[in-house]
Amino acid sequence: MKHSLWIALFLCGVLLAACTKQNSPLLADAPASSVPEAASAAPAASDAELTVLTQWDAETGYYYLARENGGDFVLHFVDFATLQDTPVCSAGCAHTDEGCTARIAWDGCDVTVYTAREQLFVVWQGAPWENDGGQARILCCERDGSDRKELARFDASVSVAGPPAWDGRRLYCILADYTDGKAEKRLLILDPASGEQQEQTGLPLLDTAIVGACGRELVLRFGEGTQAGWGLWNVDSGSWKELVRGERPVSAACDGEALYLLENRTGSIRRLLLAGGGETTLATDLNQGRQLAQAQLQAAAAEGFLVRGEEDGVFDNYLIDPQGHTVKQTLATAGELGDFPLEVFAETQDAYLVATGYSVGQVELPEDGGVVDETRYTFAMLPKEDFWADRPNYNQ
Ligand SMILES: [Zn+2]
Repeated sequence: MKHSLWIALFLCGVLLAACTKQNSPLLADAPASSVPEAASAAPAASDAELTVLTQWDAETGYYYLARENGGDFVLHFVDFATLQDTPVCSAGCAHTDEGCTARIAWDGCDVTVYTAREQLFVVWQGAPWENDGGQARILCCERDGSDRKELARFDASVSVAGPPAWDGRRLYCILADYTDGKAEKRLLILDPASGEQQEQTGLPLLDTAIVGACGRELVLRFGEGTQAGWGLWNVDSGSWKELVRGERPVSAACDGEALYLLENRTGSIRRLLLAGGGETTLATDLNQGRQLAQAQLQAAAAEGFLVRGEEDGVFDNYLIDPQGHTVKQTLATAGELGDFPLEVFAETQDAYLVATGYSVGQVELPEDGGVVDETRYTFAMLPKEDFWADRPNYNQ
């Protein structure tokens, strides 16, 4: 089985590392999806592998929500083959009316879209930390935004934390409930077909998010005081096994087979196998000849490791090959506020969807919400071998 090399989710301007498997139910022709959904009885579903949902489908393209003046979002699709970036509804529509399938009306909180098979899941994060913030909820719809069906709606005290996972039949989401001044974390298990919902409790309390999956276990990140850690949550038994923790700053990425931990002090990368245990360490020259004020492991791939680092107040991507040799990436996402490290939004089997340029506009929010920056990107495909070799061989 071939594993996904990489996921970088670009959410609200924050690049979060996560992981999943390439050979997943997300892919139309993957073996797992050849089982008709209607035939997936309970025993089969409990055998199905979990994947972390992403904003792209590796065979077709990438979805994102663009915020318009007035706060509404418009669902966009970037076609990997043509690089056309268009709202999912018909040309000629202004995307301002109720009838527009691409429009997602302002509701006071951030919204993210995820792909799974032929459908999309749209997740309203909720804003329990604000008065009159939006309510967390989840709906599913067709790829063109039509046929919307609300699957779950939560109390005002609840937010949905991070990307969901999916096993071909059920959606798995971490909920944070801010009742009584502390954020209790629960795992919501939601069957979109039947509407059935279950919840599991006992998850780690702080900074909890799904960062990967292995079989029927979710790889969860958590925080505790000065430490950050990672562990496995079994979705069938509702049991937790802590894998590793370290003093911050420490960061990790997961490829579905292993968890990779960057130790900032030494620059070493620890590889912890998810199934069966076992650990190896890769020494790197990340810290040689440079003084990184911050360094965060963003992704683990067959070609190497991506680290976002800061030196002298400047952020760059650092590419570490499987032998531990580091190169500072010169490719950049260029724009009016200066060049930023190359942003990666999605991946196909052979290439990444990246942004070669950006521009920042401002959109007004309703109800005296003020204005917020809205960054838009110029997309390009970059073959993976060129990304890792730092060659600007863009297909634009
Ligand atoms: Zn429209």
